[in-house]
Amino acid sequence: MKNVNVLISGASVAGPALAYWLHRHGFNPTIVERAPALRDGGYAVDFRGEAHLSVLRRMGIMADIEHARTGMGSMSYVNSAGKPQAKLPADLFAGDIEILRGDLARILYDATKEHTEYIFGDSITSLTEDDHGVTVTFERGTPRRFDLVIGADGLHSNTRRLAFGPEEQFVKHLGVYCAIFTTANHLGLDHTGHAYRTAGRLVAMYSARHNTQAKAVFYFGSPTLDLDRRDVARQQDVLTEHFTGNGWQSERLLRDMRYAPDFYFDSVGQVHMDTWSRGRVALIGDAAHCPSSLSGMGSGLALVGAYVLAGELAAAHGDHRVAFARYEEETREYAAGCQKMGDGVAKLMVPGNRFLASLLNRYYKVMPYLPGKNMAADIARKAAENITLRDYSDLSRI
Ligand SMILES: Cc1cc2nc3c(=O)[nH]c(=O)nc-3n(C[C@H](O)[C@H](O)[C@H](O)COP(=O)(O)OP(=O)(O)OC[C@H]3O[C@@H](n4cnc5c(N)ncnc54)[C@H](O)[C@@H]3O)c2cc1C
Repeated sequence: MKNVNVLISGASVAGPALAYWLHRHGFNPTIVERAPALRDGGYAVDFRGEAHLSVLRRMGIMADIEHARTGMGSMSYVNSAGKPQAKLPADLFAGDIEILRGDLARILYDATKEHTEYIFGDSITSLTEDDHGVTVTFERGTPRRFDLVIGADGLHSNTRRLAFGPEEQFVKHLGVYCAIFTTANHLGLDHTGHAYRTAGRLVAMYSARHNTQAKAVFYFGSPTLDLDRRDVARQQDVLTEHFTGNGWQSERLLRDMRYAPDFYFDSVGQVHMDTWSRGRVALIGDAAHCPSSLSGMGSGLALVGAYVLAGELAAAHGDHRVAFARYEEETREYAAGCQKMGDGVAKLMVPGNRFLASLLNRYYKVMPYLPGKNMAADIARKAAENITLRDYSDLSRI
């Protein structure tokens, strides 16, 4: 086996999942994560269809996932007085299994920590490749050599910037911003959520951790904003400017936001690249092909990509040229299908004017009685299942 020492940048979903499979196939993974510790927070992510579920089963973590599942029911769209106007079914939002992103990251970390070197609080600053490997320098640690480097560092991937160029070339803003944080379940929601849509804005709250807390979610339409991604205070000010006077629970949630233990804020974007590898560096998960946070596909896609990349490296006995090309062949069409979902949802999520917002609210009201009521869930399922996974188990070393 060639190229056994693999550095992965990012310890969220794609990175630890890749480390898991690399170890199973006899490689030696190291993960560098910029955050000082494993990052909690974020909203619920879903898995739907056989491809996602079979990867979870093959990883042996299905029982942990089941244990932590949110068990969410339907989502109601409410009017300004909080009165439910329309109910959307659970499978549209939650897929087959829904889990909080932070819980998923923890389960993946626990499944890999014994056989993966984790370096927290550091970040790659340069990658210099030669015929035998890559010399990697870090913000804090001393330079090291690795055989391969994989970027699993999300929508704003640092590895992608270093190996492929500035993110403006690859990230497409879908015209929507999103903020999510943990708050008190002051509405007493019971495994359910309420959403309130106005022109260009949507604010929602849903219960989490079996109703002991809630997640507040804000979406607003906007062209790209010039914001420092680490400047939380400024992001919170921007959110306040957009939602002051919006009605329903907006003001209360904006006040609570200032005390939230976690705060996620990002543009809703997609990543489009002609190739996901360059020499000894490759990308997986959102770094390679983010379908956008509105697609409901990001985490499932990240898991599938990690499974295939590790499997193809094993099948090619570590020959990265063969394996990286095969990884793209196996997953590119699948990723493109998931991205299509994200595009469509972004257009519907926050319609730009009052007429469209009210039309959509009315449509949701009658949707359960229409013949095509399951259409959206069916489209999502079809996209999620549009891959036949190879069985790499005979290549496993443990
Ligand atoms: C804290 C957090 C909250 C999130 N919340 C939501 C949410 O509410 N809704 C949603 O749709 N999606 C959310 N996401 C994104 C979602 O997790 C991904 O879309 C999906 O799971 C694919 O995962 P990924 O591992 O490819 O990328 P991500 O989950 O984005 O993970 C990327 C990882 O790389 C790390 N990283 C970034 N830069 C560097 C660097 N320079 N060096 C080393 N590590 C780096 C990040 O800290 C993160 O741990 C969130 C991600 C994070 C990290």
